[in-house]
Amino acid sequence: MKTIQHWINGSPTAGEALESAPVFNPATGAEQAHVVLGGTADVDAAVTAAATAFETWSESSLTQRTQVMFNFRQLLVEHEEELGRIISAEHGKTVDDARGEITRGREVVEFACGLGDVLKGSFSDQVSRGVDVHNFRQPLGVVAGITPFNFPAMVPLWMHPMAIATGNTFILKPSERDPSAANFVADLYRRAGLPDGVFNVVHGGKPAVDAILTHPGIQAVSFVGSTPIAKYVHEQATAHGKRVQALGGAKNHAVVLPDADLEFAANHITAGAYGSAGERCMAVSVAVAVGDAADRLVEILERKAREVKVGPGDAPGTEMGPLVTKAAQERVENAVGTAAAQGATVVVDGRGLKVDGHESGFFTGPSLIDHVSTEMDAYKEELFGPVLAIVRAESLDEAIALINANPYGNGTALFTGSGEAARRFQRNVTVGMIGVNVPVPVPMSYYSFGGWKDSLIGDSPIHGPEGIRFYTRPKVVTTRWPQPAQQLTAGFNFPTSS
Ligand code: NAD
Repeated sequence: MKTIQHWINGSPTAGEALESAPVFNPATGAEQAHVVLGGTADVDAAVTAAATAFETWSESSLTQRTQVMFNFRQLLVEHEEELGRIISAEHGKTVDDARGEITRGREVVEFACGLGDVLKGSFSDQVSRGVDVHNFRQPLGVVAGITPFNFPAMVPLWMHPMAIATGNTFILKPSERDPSAANFVADLYRRAGLPDGVFNVVHGGKPAVDAILTHPGIQAVSFVGSTPIAKYVHEQATAHGKRVQALGGAKNHAVVLPDADLEFAANHITAGAYGSAGERCMAVSVAVAVGDAADRLVEILERKAREVKVGPGDAPGTEMGPLVTKAAQERVENAVGTAAAQGATVVVDGRGLKVDGHESGFFTGPSLIDHVSTEMDAYKEELFGPVLAIVRAESLDEAIALINANPYGNGTALFTGSGEAARRFQRNVTVGMIGVNVPVPVPMSYYSFGGWKDSLIGDSPIHGPEGIRFYTRPKVVTTRWPQPAQQLTAGFNFPTSS
């Protein structure tokens, strides 16, 4: 059986290999590989390689770094199908959906290709007589990223192109559930001309994460995953003097007003709820039906949920694949049972779905649950599966209050034909990413991605302008070049301009 190794200093290595974990094919339920689980020694080895590489990479020209990014982008285009299949085989999502995440991740590389522009400093001429001021930004050193299972290509791509283009060297600790995409990307970087040691991969679980959070040679940590771990990472990494960006979980509401095109809204909410089997941090997990939109909306959502084609991610025509693990399948199916026990109406029950020829796969069908209240577990918990809860509200203001009372604030959407309602909604919700008639409003790479409240711990969103800021620190230089004939006296008072 294949063993997936770390990637340190430009090549695969088993490292200490004290432990390994099974990697499953979620569509068949079969164990298909093992991944080595790293610890302190492996993180040490990666930091040593990255620190050595930093000495030369941080001195490389903007032109050289930009060229590597252009090469890397081209390789991502050429290998999109292959990488998509690797992701699908370990995550379970459809190959087309995996290609979508690669495209969205590649857009961050495209943003990084414009490095020459985004890293420009500014210059102030003659701030005092004969004195100019300019500023510029420099890389931090060795930085690390810890990423979740649900986007094994895109979420790391939110981080490493930004870090590497700005002159840092990078250690990725991907999810141990779908680790192969990270090694594939490492090899693409090698082929793009990235020097050894600039991009490294250490596989593992908590011991590898803890080694990163406490390592004195790592300057900054980017994390994306569930909220409890985001809080832990933020606390530990800041306590060890590191810069941290930590994105957490979500419970995203899509509000449907009575004036919306209900067929359009239901279509998009269905795709947003069940796409990638609901395993997206921007998945729609709650539809808030306002006023008399509710009954008709539920009727259309029911029809559409029953039409979703569930199957293995690599089969043509599949719209929704399995969940990532057996434990995830059981958790989601139990949650549907709990919702029914707590008084909700299970309109479409996805439990117990069997896919022909894939009876041991981790499948569950789309579930639609109506009359959900805010006290129920189905509303309070991030289920991270293909379960859409319907909550009914009397007015837009009640819907906004509901969203604002929720501890998460990642994404939200409003379906309406009213510009006034859309403006009120976007100004008043305590959520970081908002869609107006757009169910999954993931920002383009030249904006930054990040939620509010428990969906982002600390203060730093990811990629775009915030990514440049996060991976660099500023210097401001005040310069005077006195002419030989000038006899300027040096004052003892605090310097002011004249
Ligand atoms: P997770 O929190 O279980 O794991 C994320 C990373 O942390 C993995 O690399 C994992 O190995 C590591 N980890 C897990 N347990 C740990 C522990 N006890 N100590 C130290 N490290 C640990 O998340 P997941 O299940 O892989 O991914 C799904 C979660 O990620 C969901 O909550 C989802 O909303 C969230 N997510 C958020 C965003 C966002 O942008 N806000 C994007 C994608 C996913």
